[in-house]
Amino acid sequence: MSRLVSDALQDTRTARRLVAGGRPARQQSLRDHNLGLALRLVAEAPTPVSRAQIASTTGLTRATASTLVETLLAGGLVREVPLPPTARSGRPAVGLVLAPGGPGGLGLEVNVDYIAATVVDLTGAVVVHEVHAGDQRVLTPAAALRTTAAVGAAALAAAQRKGVRVAGTAVALPGLVHDGRLLLAPNLGWQDVDVRRLLTRNRRLTALPLALDNEANYAALGEVSPTARTFVHVSGEIGIGAGIVLDGELYRGSRGWSGEIGHVTVVPSGPACHCGATGCLEVYAGQEAILRAAGLAGQSVGAPGAALAERATLGDPALLAALDAAAGALGTVLAGVLNVLDISTVVLGGIYAPLAPWLLPTVGHELSRRVLWSSWEPPSVRTAAHGPEAAALGAARSVVAAVVSEPERWLVT
Ligand SMILES: [Zn+2]
Repeated sequence: MSRLVSDALQDTRTARRLVAGGRPARQQSLRDHNLGLALRLVAEAPTPVSRAQIASTTGLTRATASTLVETLLAGGLVREVPLPPTARSGRPAVGLVLAPGGPGGLGLEVNVDYIAATVVDLTGAVVVHEVHAGDQRVLTPAAALRTTAAVGAAALAAAQRKGVRVAGTAVALPGLVHDGRLLLAPNLGWQDVDVRRLLTRNRRLTALPLALDNEANYAALGEVSPTARTFVHVSGEIGIGAGIVLDGELYRGSRGWSGEIGHVTVVPSGPACHCGATGCLEVYAGQEAILRAAGLAGQSVGAPGAALAERATLGDPALLAALDAAAGALGTVLAGVLNVLDISTVVLGGIYAPLAPWLLPTVGHELSRRVLWSSWEPPSVRTAAHGPEAAALGAARSVVAAVVSEPERWLVT
């Protein structure tokens, strides 16, 4: 059998193993698929990857792996970096990393009290981050989204000035998203808003692919790293959302509406929630609930997480009691989430990140006494690496993840 034929057969076997459903792929799609496979390996590895590692990990031949790498190098998606000489050959080896000049992503977040824009390059590094503070509840959806589009267009222009081309836009929204529309955002008071149509009135955004998702989903994706691949990420803002990440992938539920833990019932006869139900987690542990319980409702506290943390450090007794009550409700609901999902790591994000020193003890206590398997595998709770900017960052990185999965569209020719 000729080398070429055996290569093709081996590649086909590999592709059959890797393509969902085991369907054979056509030659062009097989090459595209393998390009994505090689680039994902480079993207997900914590250290530079050699051509030999790509071949051995994917099961492709060395020759095929080298051809794929040459395509990715020529297309401007990876670059070579020196590796330390190996003991075996003694020759200096060459590793591959993502090219910072490769296509990046724009993430936008519309939230109750701010709009944020983040541009990352292909490596996921932030090159532009802007926050436009302001209460969106006093605006119509059309006006708020006009501002959002302008903030996004300004971020695109800033990225262009820094030499980063952008492959697409992803928009994080605080509610139920389906098919380009925001069906319901209880804390904004918005219902059935055609976000895609309103944003793409701005010509700069029309030119790029546009994706929409729930802000908690994107915030969770922003926390994925080679060492953190399975966890529940909780975003504490005015609303509370969770993103469920299993082996680096978001668990979205059947329609993308998973993770609405802010509306899990804590006390059935409790106070009314914006969603129309009563006694939801948000009325006990949301940002406004904490401010109210601490006697700070209606006061301007600037960046709420940092301002509350500063006040807690000074020992404000009403705030400490409010945080402890919020942590009790949060821990109780999270225990239910962990019991159902069999996930042992919780990541606290949004305003919960700066407030973690005051939340962690009680959240941890509730988890250890309510999660059935906690004696064998104690749940761990940690602080998110990214604070309030996590959703825009995760949205931007989701664009880059799509480039990495299907790189053939973005090769520079
Ligand atoms: Zn509710």
